[in-house]
Amino acid sequence: MATSLSALLEVQRIEGRIGLLDQEIGKRPQMVGSKSSEVESLKVKRVEIDGMLKTGQILHDKLELDFRSFEEKIAESTQRLNNAQTNKEYKALQHQIDGYKGEASEIEDNLLLVLGRIEEITAEGLQVDEKIVECKEEADRAAETADSETESMERERGELVEILEAARKRVDPEHLEIYDTLSARYSDQSVVSAEDQICGGCHLSVNPQVISALGRSEELVTCPNCSRILHG
Ligand SMILES: [Zn+2]
Repeated sequence: MATSLSALLEVQRIEGRIGLLDQEIGKRPQMVGSKSSEVESLKVKRVEIDGMLKTGQILHDKLELDFRSFEEKIAESTQRLNNAQTNKEYKALQHQIDGYKGEASEIEDNLLLVLGRIEEITAEGLQVDEKIVECKEEADRAAETADSETESMERERGELVEILEAARKRVDPEHLEIYDTLSARYSDQSVVSAEDQICGGCHLSVNPQVISALGRSEELVTCPNCSRILHG
């Protein structure tokens, strides 16, 4: 019996380790995924910045065109002013030129603002480009780490499965069946300690007679409340 119980504890320990490995192996794709989705969202941001730059450039070109047309108008009116025949005509043209100059200077101010903004967005785009490179490297490294970790965990898992098989063979088949039934029912351990006469599974106190059977019984001693297998 003692052999069966210690073999069962070994089975439980190995199964627990395999369970932990499965959890860790399962986490790896998510760890890699979060890095690559970071890269993807940076790429989306880069596309947005490109769109903003395009809009800025269109606005810039339009303002520049407007500015040039006012410059042409100013040149034209200045020429007419130089050939003005009357004082009245001269004054009217002067007034017109002043108006054009006002508009041109307003456009020039806007042009400077737009150029400044384009410069800012361009810098932002370069920063995002750098981040994409960094993030891609991190994602690659994360994938590499995850691969090698998964590989070594899978190797350990494979070894444990073999050890588990051997350990299960050392357990009395009837006891193994009880254990497997309990394991299917409980997500935590099926073989628990009865320390201080408390069941380590359901945490209820266990009758002293049950406890005293622990050292003697040929059969498995189970908790009267939750049926888990008790060990000393
Ligand atoms: Zn119990």
